[in-house]
Amino acid sequence: MLLKGKTAVVTGASRGIGLGIALALAKEGCNVVLGDIDLKGCEEAAKKVQKLKVKAFAVKCDVSKKAEVDSMISSAAKKFGKVDILVNNAGIFPFVDFSKMSEAEWDRVLDINLKGVFLCSQAAAKSMKEGGRIISISSIASIIGFSGLSHYCASKGGINGFTRALALELAPRKINVNAVAPGAIDTPGAASDEKTRKQTVMGIPLGRMGTPEDIANAVVFLASEKSDYITGQVIVVDGGWTAK
Ligand code: NAP
Repeated sequence: MLLKGKTAVVTGASRGIGLGIALALAKEGCNVVLGDIDLKGCEEAAKKVQKLKVKAFAVKCDVSKKAEVDSMISSAAKKFGKVDILVNNAGIFPFVDFSKMSEAEWDRVLDINLKGVFLCSQAAAKSMKEGGRIISISSIASIIGFSGLSHYCASKGGINGFTRALALELAPRKINVNAVAPGAIDTPGAASDEKTRKQTVMGIPLGRMGTPEDIANAVVFLASEKSDYITGQVIVVDGGWTAK
């Protein structure tokens, strides 16, 4: 798919969907820079990626901090010459009742999930020399509401709007900007008890939770030349959840 030798930066890549995306891009031949707030976990993840015979390294990066984001992107550009693909994956989803939500809880979710996407996209776009791809992991929570996640739903809705506007601004530079909106995906961050899990699966038309690979497949497509004419879009990957 012509991804061989491209440089990809994936945030929140230590585990879950981010790790799945890093591995899938590496299988297509991309060199991968893995950023995460958890450096130790990220170094372990980078070792798994290196086993796929590509170059990969881990960087400590809290996406809500501009200095750390700039340093992650500049180390990617220094090592590989340029950045071709950015995957904005890092995100948090703590359940908090709206009536009890503190300003700090609201700010933390918006800072990581939405400001982080802005900071990473701005820094990466500067290092994209021959076109590029910016792919952000949104959520079906950008389309339907989830009780206890008002801050999260707002942040993911923000990603969809940002994606459409940035696609227009970066189109002249041949940088395609898209988002993937997952449904319920089996990851460490989304782990739940067996009863909740069964209830969740009952609401999914395809009858199973999604896997990080399901999301990574959509990301690989959006990173490849097969999606050259797609920009400003949000692709839902949810086993049919939002089709109901
Ligand atoms: P996860 O298992 O919790 O993994 C997320 C990773 O991001 C963790 O390694 C986490 O580190 C890291 N991280 C947290 N805050 C960060 C920050 N400020 N800067 C950099 N890295 C940070 O989550 P996931 O389920 O794979 O979710 C990944 C993305 O998919 C998120 O954007 C999420 O909103 C989205 N999504 C997930 C689902 C789902 O069902 N799983 C559904 C829709 C959308 P720590 O472990 O140290 O916190």
